Amino acid sequence: MAVARILFTLPLPEPFDYTVPEGMGLEPGAYVAAPVGPYDRLGMVVEVLGDEVSSGRKLKPVTAVYEAPPMGAPMREFLAWVARYTVTHPGQVLAMALRARDGLLPSPVETRYRLTGTLPERMTPARQKVLDVYRNCPEMSGNDHLLAAADIAAAANVSSGVVKGMVEAGALEPVEIDSDPPFAIPDPDLPGASLTGEQATAAVELRAAIQQGGFSAFLLDGVTGSGKTEVYFEAIAETLRSDPEAQILVLLPEIALTQAILARFQARFGAAPAPWHSGMNPKDRRRTWREAVHGRARIVIGARSALFLPYRKLRLIIVDEEHDTSFKQEDGVTYHARDLAVMRAKMEGGQVILASATPALETAVNAEAGRYVRLRLSARPGASRLPDIELVDLRKAPPAKGKWLSPVLERALIQTLANGEQSLLFLNRRGYAPLVICKACGERLKTPGTENWLTEHRYSGRLVCHVTGYSIPKPAKCPHCGAADSLMGVGPGVERVAEEVRVLLPNARIEIFSSDTAQGGDAVRSLVERMERGEIDVMIGTQIVAKGHNFPNLTLVGVVDADSGLKGGDLRAGERTYQLLSQVAGRAGRAERPGRALVQTYAPDNPAMEALAANDRDGFLQIERDVRAELVLPPFGRLAAMILSAPSAELVDKTALEIAAAAPNGEGIEVFGPAPAPITVLRGRHRRRFLIKSPRIVDLSAYMTAWTARLKLPAQVRISVDIDPYSFL
Ligand code: ADP
Repeated sequence: MAVARILFTLPLPEPFDYTVPEGMGLEPGAYVAAPVGPYDRLGMVVEVLGDEVSSGRKLKPVTAVYEAPPMGAPMREFLAWVARYTVTHPGQVLAMALRARDGLLPSPVETRYRLTGTLPERMTPARQKVLDVYRNCPEMSGNDHLLAAADIAAAANVSSGVVKGMVEAGALEPVEIDSDPPFAIPDPDLPGASLTGEQATAAVELRAAIQQGGFSAFLLDGVTGSGKTEVYFEAIAETLRSDPEAQILVLLPEIALTQAILARFQARFGAAPAPWHSGMNPKDRRRTWREAVHGRARIVIGARSALFLPYRKLRLIIVDEEHDTSFKQEDGVTYHARDLAVMRAKMEGGQVILASATPALETAVNAEAGRYVRLRLSARPGASRLPDIELVDLRKAPPAKGKWLSPVLERALIQTLANGEQSLLFLNRRGYAPLVICKACGERLKTPGTENWLTEHRYSGRLVCHVTGYSIPKPAKCPHCGAADSLMGVGPGVERVAEEVRVLLPNARIEIFSSDTAQGGDAVRSLVERMERGEIDVMIGTQIVAKGHNFPNLTLVGVVDADSGLKGGDLRAGERTYQLLSQVAGRAGRAERPGRALVQTYAPDNPAMEALAANDRDGFLQIERDVRAELVLPPFGRLAAMILSAPSAELVDKTALEIAAAAPNGEGIEVFGPAPAPITVLRGRHRRRFLIKSPRIVDLSAYMTAWTARLKLPAQVRISVDIDPYSFL
């Protein structure tokens, strides 16, 4: 009997062996059920071996095989590579590929009813109401007025018995339909925008690479609004044309904002793409998963985890806003979707396009080295032009006491409102004040047992910890000294800035746009649409406003505190600040009206600020590059983090010392720590960090694997390894 090695979606280091029952054809990549302990579990065949291996061992048989097409070799190779690189068990990575396992089964069917044309012999008012529901139904594409019994009953306001009676009377007939219908097929040959010279040149290069086939990587480097989306639409169209089975994946950072982009896909290809993100319900996920696995979903648009779907024939991956830090997955298996997208395209032998106005340093260095082909879009099409960016030196023109807007910004806001145009104030702090102190005793209010400050939210009347989610109603007395009415919010949040603007512009329509005021896709969409329609004069927002929106009448962007992102000693702080602020500034003047961005800073001679004002992105990247090269930091060196946590400080400290002692020797490897993590306590667990640094040539993943393999940890201690960390908290 043949033997199959099966990998399960469990944190196990190895696949297990099973016999293959007679007549069950199994090939590598097949999805199967097989017993692990008392239960059958979902697994994937890694390898099928000849009979000889089974000799002398008592193996259990595979229980069943699913009909779905087996996972292809490039995807299996990709998963194995990810497991090794991220220092995780292969089964945990497989689990990421099988997030919607219901999709392995065929779509469930549902019963719908349609009119037969025969009228019931006995007509009653209730039956007439049912007929009216069908008559008044808006035109529904292709499904012939198929309605569910419950919907008919609700719409006609009759009991379900009436519907049943009409079926028996022959007036309605049941039809079985798939409850997960396939996605509409995109049409590559609908007309796109008529491209500008630069756009056309970029599109020609992309089309040539697609026609030629084989791996290639592109950096689509274009200023905000230069038409990067229009250009990658051309690459998608060419890929669709090149092969009737080719699939395309578009990764986007901010899924809440995808509505506008979905409409653009619909307009360009006559079909909405298949979505994939964590906010979807299980039914929609299972549908996208199944259609991707069968190769019927031709275009998938999703968040970083969409990279792990087992597409049948993935030919093109687009990573839009490739510099965005949300592509880094920080929990569980930590990975950077942009880096993995390049690896995946390489293994699939397809193309990858990284698009950005402010490429990550890593990407810029790869483009310079010739690993990625750079396609430049240096201008916005038509009359639209980039905003002028001016620094407001707060040392020279500070805001009045107790205020946060300098006189320069105040005047600009007044003028913009007078012109009938819109303003956007950006401050990356939710709530009213980021810190609450007691005027009587000086106490800073923190989350109990941690060093995290509580943020005052006036909107909800609560004090909230943005790290742990802990929250309490704002106390009337200081919890430390008991003084009444002594608690005072310090520093600005968006709510406080809004308060200031209300005094400055009493007649303006003002809205706050943050994850507190716009929870969920609908709320975000409604705010964005009101801004687009000009129903808001001044929007005050956190980073949620920075991306993707196109507000035609927005001409002033004010950055309230440009320096906040520079604090904290993060290796990418300058780069991130530059990216975020140029993205925010890029919101101004997208249509025919010129825009202006005023950036308030106490550090106008910081390289990130100088470069921003001079619109000198490449100069800025050069400085960053030199610093990182000098310090042998990524991408010129490698970093890994190891975070350990335990319920008590004693246990975590004791274990940290043992882990430190177990660190293997390695040429050129430096281990820093253990040190208390900046978020010292999280959800009741005390945290310590190691930072590991190596030259580029060292295989740091292998080093971390060797290190962790040696450890015998107490059950209450958890460790996690983060290769190429982005967060240092
Ligand atoms: P980016 O992705 O670089 O920010 P977009 O592709 O979103 O830029 O383009 C910005 C705006 O300009 C969009 O409204 C887009 O439809 C429009 N646009 C881009 N290129 C053209 C073109 N060649 N002709 C007409 N409109 C264009």
